[in-house]
Parts: sequence; C-alpha cells; structure tokens
Amino acid sequence: MTTDLYDDLVVRLRRHADLAAALQLLEWDQETFMPAGVANERARQIGTVAGLLHEQETDPAFVNLIDELAARLPELDPAAAVDVRETKWRSARTRALDTDLVRERSTVRAAARNVWIGARADDDFARLAPYLERIFALERRVAAAIDPHRDAYEVLLEEYEPGTSVAVLDRLFAELRGGLVPLGERLRARMAAPPLDGGALRGDFPIEAQRACNRRIAAEIGFDFTRGRIDEAAHPFSISIGGDVRLTTRYDTSDLRYALFSTLHETGHGLYEQGLDAAAWGTPRGTACSLGIHESQSRLWENQVGRSEGFWRRCLPLLQEAFPALAGTTLAAAVLAANEARPSLIRTEADEITYNLHILVRFDLERTLLAGDLTVADLPAAWRETMARYLGITPDSDREGVLQDVHWACGAIGYFPTYTLGNVYAAQMWDAAAAALGPLDACIAAGETAALLGWLRARIHQLGQTHRAPELVQAATGQPPTCRPLLAHLEGKVAFLETA
Ligand code: ZN
Repeated sequence: MTTDLYDDLVVRLRRHADLAAALQLLEWDQETFMPAGVANERARQIGTVAGLLHEQETDPAFVNLIDELAARLPELDPAAAVDVRETKWRSARTRALDTDLVRERSTVRAAARNVWIGARADDDFARLAPYLERIFALERRVAAAIDPHRDAYEVLLEEYEPGTSVAVLDRLFAELRGGLVPLGERLRARMAAPPLDGGALRGDFPIEAQRACNRRIAAEIGFDFTRGRIDEAAHPFSISIGGDVRLTTRYDTSDLRYALFSTLHETGHGLYEQGLDAAAWGTPRGTACSLGIHESQSRLWENQVGRSEGFWRRCLPLLQEAFPALAGTTLAAAVLAANEARPSLIRTEADEITYNLHILVRFDLERTLLAGDLTVADLPAAWRETMARYLGITPDSDREGVLQDVHWACGAIGYFPTYTLGNVYAAQMWDAAAAALGPLDACIAAGETAALLGWLRARIHQLGQTHRAPELVQAATGQPPTCRPLLAHLEGKVAFLETA
C-alpha cells in the first residue's frame, strides 16, 4: 500500500520534471538562438508552462499524496524516505504562500528587473530604490508566511541552500573575513611593487580556434557531448533539460582567459548534472543537492584544476598548437596569467582571491536591509563604506557599485552566500580527494582526471539530495563545512604572486 503510494509519487514527480524540462528548453533557447522579434510570444509560452507547473504542485491529489506518505515515513525504505522528506519540505514552502502574495511577488520582480536595466545603464539608483523597498518588504512577508518563528534571512537562504543555518553561515563567514581581508591587503601591497606581467594569455585569438580548444578541454575532463552542448550567450550559464546539459560561454578575441575559465566553470556544473543518478531521475535523489554544492563543482574545475600548474603543463602545448601567437609563451608566464589577481570593483570580473570579499559585502548588506537596520536610501553609501573596509577600494559610480548585480532586483535575497559556500566546499573536496587519490597535479598534467571525476561522482553527484549540503560535505570530506582549506589555498596563491 505504502509502496503503491510512493510509486504514484514518483510518476507525478517525473511528469513534473518533464514539464520543467520543457520550460528549461524554452528558456535556454531564449538566451541563445531565439530571434529577438518573438520575445513576447516566448514570454507568454514560458508563463503558460510555469502556470501548468504551479497547477501540478498545488493539485490537491498531489498535496494529499505527499502528506499521506510523510505520515508513513518510518514504513519507507531509506531511498524513498529521502524523496518523500524533500518533496514534503519543498511542498510546505509552496503551500505557505497564498496566491495573491505569489502573484504580487512575480509582478514586482519582473518590473524591478526591467527598471534595473535602465537604472544601471543611466547610473540612477534613485529609480530602482522604490522597487528594492517593495522587494525587501515582500521577502519579509514571504519569510514570515513560511516560518514566522525563525530568522527571516535563514528562511530565505534555505530556498537555495536547504539545511544551512544562519549560525553556521555567520561562523564560516567570520572565519573567512578574518583571513581574507589581510590577503587583500597583501595583494594591494604587491600591486604597488613592480607590476606583474599577466599578459601572456592576451593577444589575438580567433573565436573558431578557441571554440575547438574549449570543446577539447571540456571533453577531456569528462563532459559527454552525446548528452550535452556548448553554445554562446551574453552571460554564460548552464541548464539541464532532463539530463541533456546545455552549457554556454562567451568569447573575447583579445584574452584567452575569459572563455577558457568560463567554459571550465560551466563544464563543472555540467559534469555534476551528467553525474546525477539516472535511475533516480525526476526525484530529489536524482536532483542536485543545493546551489552551494553546484557551485563547488564549477569552482573546483575552474580554480583548483584550471589555475594549477599541472593544468597548464597539459593545456599550454594544446593552445600553442592552435594559436601561433603563444609560440614563445613559457609555462611560468601562462601560470602567472591564469592566477593574476588584484582588488577590483566588479564581482563577476573578480579573481579567485578577492571574489569572496565581494560576496561578504553583499551578505552583510542584504542581511541588515532585510532586518530593517539599513534603509534602501542609505544603501549606496553603505556599499561604498563596506567595499572600502573589505577591499580597500570604492566605486566612483553606483553602476560600478550597488547597481552592478541583478540579484536583488530579481528578489533573490540569500542567494549570494551560495557562491562563497561553493568556493569553501570546493577547497574542502579538493583536499579530501587529494588525500584519497594522491597528489593530483601530476594526473592533471597527464590529462588523467578520470579518478578525480570518479571521486566526485561517488561522493557528491550520485547522492543527489540524499543528504543536505552540510552533511554531504561532512560525509564526503570527513569534516563539517570549514574555511580553512580555502584560506590555505588562497594564501598559497598570494604567496605565489608575492614572489612572481
Ligand atoms: Zn556557477
């Protein structure tokens, strides 16, 4: 009886997953190949499919089925129990929000996103401010509707990172701030000394040759092109259409690093999606654990692998074959260019060392805004003050400051920390994989990364949502989430630049 109910749940979850995949395909096409003249038609199609998904989620038969199974949790085998636990948790959040609140939220978000585009272009924060006020007020209401007894920020954070508490985040981020701010100061001191020559990977690099190199590298680290593609988009992203993984990148003909590192990053996301348990498709066990864990997979391939000496030992000869301009480039010069770093204003262009300082700025500000301890009107000044404190630089304009990211205008409060959690987890996983497999640099230099991918598949990818992120990290690495491996890794990078 209970087994029949569970089988029914799986059928319904898979129908939902197929419909969600159709929505992903519409969105992927919108960002890549869709002709500009059909934007309205596409928006309508996306709205229709999103409405059908919402109908499925709130269908009384589905909701009753979840409740009935949740009441019988002890009777279920462990795998089924995971699916019921996570489905029930997600469904309870959906049910907590009444239709009016959901509608108001999506209307305000859509309007704010449009206003943000113009406000950023014109460097006009005042135009966006009233929308941000509405968004933060709405998100307070959303958090209160889901759970009025808990910290509102924690409730919102859980949307992206289930199982991570504000207490854990506070401890991790305090540790990180303590270690990173001095590293940023060392970087600034290094910039004052004779300049680093990071120009080895700048020059003239035709797109067609870059495309071929990136495909070759993505395939070599394990991306399955029979179940995925790499295309181009203005802002690189990856999307999974029910196991069919679409990556995008963007090419800069004057700098090899942009497309190479964004391809490695998105390939890391893609390897995770391709490594999920196919037998559990459509269920929580066959779905990525959290945004932080997803980001750990992209960052590990981008930073721990892609900026290592071993990677460049392997990669530089391939690139030299494709680009005559690199003929005289030495390994040392290429590694230096791959690790160039300096405090800068724009998060998406930040290097590996200072990136998390940008996240800490946003984390502090969105928390105080949500708590009502900072007003939207005071936000630009608070932004400049926090940038000065953490990165030692301040923007001259809001365009290069508080207006640079779309997240808050989209209502994504509690999203930014997942980027840094990804970096924290990636460093922990890298150390644990190296402890299990032996030094990884030589394997990477030989183009043999299958053992590393196998380690990630077994301990992260295949488990889906069997554990929540903090438990998954503990199980995979033997340690609860900690910043120590990341800080040690970044300290090594600063020391390398100091002697370069
Ligand atoms: Zn990412």
